[in-house]
Amino acid sequence: MRALFLLPLLVHAFGATAQLDDATRRDSVLRMTASRPVAHQLKRTWDFGGVHFSNRFAGARLNEVERVNDTAFVCTIAPENRPVNGSPWYAFAVRADEPRWISVTLRYTDFFHRYHPKISLFEGEWHDLPDSLLHGPDTLPHAHPGQTGDTILLHEWVRMDLWVDTLSLTVAAQQVIDVARDQRWWMRLEAGGLTGREAAPVEGTPYELWAWHAGEGPNGLLLLGRQHPPEVTGALALRQFMLRLLEDDELATRFRTRWRVTVIPLMNPTGVDGGHWRHNGGGVDINRDWWLMQQPETRAASTILERNLGGRNYLIDFHSTWKDILYPQDSTANDTITPGWLDRFDALLGTPTPRRQVPFFAPITSLHWAQAHGIPAVVYEVGDDTPEEELDRKARLAAEAVMHALLGDRAGLR
Ligand SMILES: [Zn+2]
Repeated sequence: MRALFLLPLLVHAFGATAQLDDATRRDSVLRMTASRPVAHQLKRTWDFGGVHFSNRFAGARLNEVERVNDTAFVCTIAPENRPVNGSPWYAFAVRADEPRWISVTLRYTDFFHRYHPKISLFEGEWHDLPDSLLHGPDTLPHAHPGQTGDTILLHEWVRMDLWVDTLSLTVAAQQVIDVARDQRWWMRLEAGGLTGREAAPVEGTPYELWAWHAGEGPNGLLLLGRQHPPEVTGALALRQFMLRLLEDDELATRFRTRWRVTVIPLMNPTGVDGGHWRHNGGGVDINRDWWLMQQPETRAASTILERNLGGRNYLIDFHSTWKDILYPQDSTANDTITPGWLDRFDALLGTPTPRRQVPFFAPITSLHWAQAHGIPAVVYEVGDDTPEEELDRKARLAAEAVMHALLGDRAGLR
């Protein structure tokens, strides 16, 4: 029931528009990143004679529940607005007055079933729903071109068997890390080596973007996470990456005397707490807004990043997608750091992580923002289904490779 890969298939998402002149390109980006309405997700509970569903928590996404019979229910999942990327986030709670098995079908108004269900009974404890409790249609899955260059097979809907009782069971596309939980995790690290915190308001919302610092060096390592709400595995990798930078071994200690880290771990608070598939509260993919900055999140982030630039700088933006993959900058970016650390990363891992260059359309992503500031950069993508132990191990090795590259260490490179 997990996403299956077919043979690699190259998809040039923006290739056809690459020849557009600047004015047309600007006009097209202006339209793409202008605020647009977001459908309000009514926060409520659904009570069906002893079985109760709820979306009353930050990060929830559950648009409708229908009762088929006493033990069978259909949940409808819809995006915040359209058009939207195929990241069908869902998160809801369910409980029953009397213990029982129920079946819950997930139906999507858009796209297909992508994320294997995770379940949680206790705060912070998440498990994959066992495969034996997940069923799909008998029909063949749909072949979908993933952005990673692969074709992925996806079902239209799935049905889960769930054991429910009076304890509320949370079911979600990935573990739920809302804004408050994320901030608590990073604040706890203030006792573990972070050297400061700053914030910038996300205008028009109750939120601020929070940034933390580590190290005292003259150069700036800039780290971003969670531009896209469902991309939790990328956020988990960013945490491990940061923990490795904070260790007390020779490498990390030397690194922190030469480099100062600025991390904005959660770039899209309205989208994360709103349970969005992709967009911010303005209904826009903020990773298309780094050129014209029509959205408050990109403005807040660039304010923070610009006031923390060092003599030399490097940027890594953490995301999730169909599989582990790295997106280095366009070859015109004159980036001498990235190839070095990627080679070392491959050597440390023993198996190369796929790399793919982002086709240049317009300077709209964080990579392009970096390029416009003369900052080499990479997008670090973690697979939706990459197990936590593996993404932890990889993120730690990535941090070691990055530290060596930024310190100019040659030893250990083939
Ligand atoms: Zn992303």
